[in-house]
Amino acid sequence: MNVLITGGSRGIGAACVRAFCGRGDRVAFFYRKSDGAAETLATETGALAMRVDITDAEAVANAVDRVAVALGSIDVLVNNAGIAQIKLFADLTDGDWQTMVDTNLSGAFYVTRATAKKMIAQQSGKIVNIGSMWGKTGASCEVHYSAAKAGLRGMTMALAKELGPSHITVNCVEPGVIDTEMNAAMDDETRRALCDATPLCRIGRPEEVTAAVCFLASEQASFITGQTLGVDGGFAI
Ligand code: NDP
Repeated sequence: MNVLITGGSRGIGAACVRAFCGRGDRVAFFYRKSDGAAETLATETGALAMRVDITDAEAVANAVDRVAVALGSIDVLVNNAGIAQIKLFADLTDGDWQTMVDTNLSGAFYVTRATAKKMIAQQSGKIVNIGSMWGKTGASCEVHYSAAKAGLRGMTMALAKELGPSHITVNCVEPGVIDTEMNAAMDDETRRALCDATPLCRIGRPEEVTAAVCFLASEQASFITGQTLGVDGGFAI
């Protein structure tokens, strides 16, 4: 399969790049600024690394075209790129809100729109969105993040209905707290509290999210669409 992953330079996205490459798929990934990490990963895996800001609709459309030419087609899209920010709701600026929604929701829209056109033409495809358990439960001090991730849930269900007749599945994976740079600034007390609130009593590994992504992108999941799968140690039950 030919796979496009956004936010592939680090964390969950990098784990996805390794997993798909490891099973023999051809992979291209977008990233925003981590040139060194992206280059190292590309050398390690053979994946095609492309510096593309997913908030730039025109750049995304051009890049998706280039990926389709380089790989021959795009069979799987993983909308993984995202940012997080912890801030009191009353202190959020217009810019904070806009950047969050631009990246975590509009970015996925731009990449999906450009890719879906190609999937519709080929009458096949699998799209996996990376949401967050906070999109289901809501997180205090992450209202803009929670809202954008809840938007991804809605996009997943609506798009599954619209693209189903073209034999394209659309699903969402909602991770819980995962050990990546996104959580690097978390203090020990918060980390302990989150572990305590998780039935499996720990935070997750990027590879545990990747396993769910690979499943939803596989033929084994051929009759699953519009679904959201939590990979959160039971946090959001
Ligand atoms: P990281 O911060 O480790 O990595 C984020 C990735 O997204 C990087 O590759 C980054 O590129 C890329 N990215 C960010 N903004 C843009 C942009 N505008 N254009 C292109 N690429 C961009 O995050 P995680 O791996 O932890 O998170 C991955 C996804 O999983 C996100 O959507 C996140 O919301 C979600 N998630 C994560 C959880 C966690 O606990 N870690 C929990 C729930 C959901 P670059 O390296 O160049 O900056």
